Order: sequence, then structure tokens, then C-alpha cells
Amino acid sequence: MPVAHGHPEATPSSENMVVAERVYKRFGRLPVLQGIDLRVRRGEVMCVMGPSGSGKSTFLRCVNHLEKINAGRLWVDGQLMGYRQKGGKLYELHDREVAAQRRNIGMVFQNFNLFPHMSVLGNVVEAPLQARGRRGGTRSQIQQHALELLDRVGLANKARAYPRQLSGGQQQRVAIARALAMNPALMLFDEPTSALDPELVGDVLDVMRDLASEGMTMIVVTHEVGFAREVADSFVFMDEGVVVESGAPREVLGNPQHERTRSFLSKVL
Ligand code: ADP
Ligand code: MG
Repeated sequence: MPVAHGHPEATPSSENMVVAERVYKRFGRLPVLQGIDLRVRRGEVMCVMGPSGSGKSTFLRCVNHLEKINAGRLWVDGQLMGYRQKGGKLYELHDREVAAQRRNIGMVFQNFNLFPHMSVLGNVVEAPLQARGRRGGTRSQIQQHALELLDRVGLANKARAYPRQLSGGQQQRVAIARALAMNPALMLFDEPTSALDPELVGDVLDVMRDLASEGMTMIVVTHEVGFAREVADSFVFMDEGVVVESGAPREVLGNPQHERTRSFLSKVL
């Protein structure tokens, strides 16, 4: 069924991992995203900040099509998320096709969202085992890859533990390993350290820093100003569903141009 969306001339380009054009999203009558335009290049780390309720999580959820947008376009890795374009019209993809698009995107949540009844290793192998029919790979190859990922996040010795036996920081590092297990092209982080005790934040940020230095494309919603300044290539300040200001992290953080940005940063800096 055709869906009316504007901007039929828009095209993604191969240097961009994410292209958002005039993205609108409302919940009932509540407008939440009000025309978001963003580009994230391959290998880029973008940090997003903004007040609570400004639409940051909703934006991430739209990027992987966990939420359907009301207008605009969103491409990830050259693919229009959730739709097929044909003869200038958009057709909704089947759930199966959306699931395939989503497998290319890893997501890490504030509250880890690990499967509590599965071991650490079980959490990491779950998605690739489910996808095995389509992708190939033996059970032992998948397990080997999972153990390598756990080693990468510093938790090789916790493979047999259960989430409840781990600290929040360790659980979040498992969540990162789990998200990486499908070899995503893009990683989305939604306030990954906000629920952690302060002394556990550093280990999680270190893992994210390593990922960034290996060239992973990342969108990170965070209030960690130091991380944004040191690791991000680009910085976005959102408020009330719009991008108020964006640019190089040092410039926006050091010399914000808008009063709304200044006022917010004065509270987190
Ligand atoms: P942020 O992550 O920046 O704090 P959110 O994207 O979570 O903001 O929320 C933006 C606004 O959208 C808030 O007013 C929130 O209450 C509302 N909202 C988010 N998700 C839903 C939903 N599923 N149904 C209705 N309202 C929602
Ligand atoms: Mg949020």
C-alpha cells in the first residue's frame, strides 16, 4: 500500500551510514520529532545530547524502525528503513524484511535489557543462533565469536555467569558484546552509562572508545561530556524534537551558539 511521504528526490550516498531527512514522529497528538535532518558518515561517532523528553530515544528507535515515522525518510547503510521505493511511491516492507534491516543495527539501552534467565554466553549467542538458518555458521563458530566478543569487552571469564551476578557495568559490557554479535554496520547507544554507579562508567566508555577507534559507526545519546569531546566526530544538541545545533564537539561544547544549548550545557558541564 503506498504511503504518502515527501521528498521523492532524496537519495542516500555511499559515504553516509545514516541519513535522516525531515523526520517527523508523533505519539497520538503529541509531536515528538519535528523535522530531524542528520547525516552520519561511515566510521563516524555522533554524540547526541538534549533535555529529557526532547526525543532522543524516539529518534534512535526510528533509526532502526522500532517506531514508524510519520513523515520524512531514514536510510541506514543505503537502505530506506521500513519501506521500498518504487515508481516514486513508498511501500511498507514485510516484518521479515524489516527484521533483516534491523539485524544490521546494534542497540544498547540504558537498562542493559539482558535476558535474565540466560548465561552471559547465552545472551551473546542468542541472536546469531536464531539467524543461523539464514546466515550459516556452525554452533561452535558462533560460540567462538561470542567468546572473542566477551574477551574484547573484558569479560571472557564471566561467560558462564548470569546477569544478576554481574555489576551494572559488566552487564552493560555484555549488552555491547551481544549487540556486536550480529556484526552490525551501525551501533546505537541510548544513555548507556546513565544507570551506572559512577565508578563503573569508565569501563563501559573504554569499550565504546575502543569500538570507535576500530572504525565502528556509532550514534551515542549520552550526557558524558568528556566522552563526547574526546571520542565524537560530531555533536548534536536536540530540544523539543528538533536539532537545535550541531557541529564539531569542541565547537558546540566550547562555544554554543544558541541559548537553549548554553542553558542545557551549564547544567551538565
Ligand atoms: P528523551 O529520550 O529525549 O528523553 P523520548 O524520545 O523518550 O525523549 O520521549 C520524547 C517524548 O515522547 C516524551 O514526551 C515522551 O513521553 C513521549 N513518548 C516516548 N515514547 C512514547 C510512546 N511510546 N507513547 C507515547 N509517548 C511517548
Ligand atoms: Mg531517552
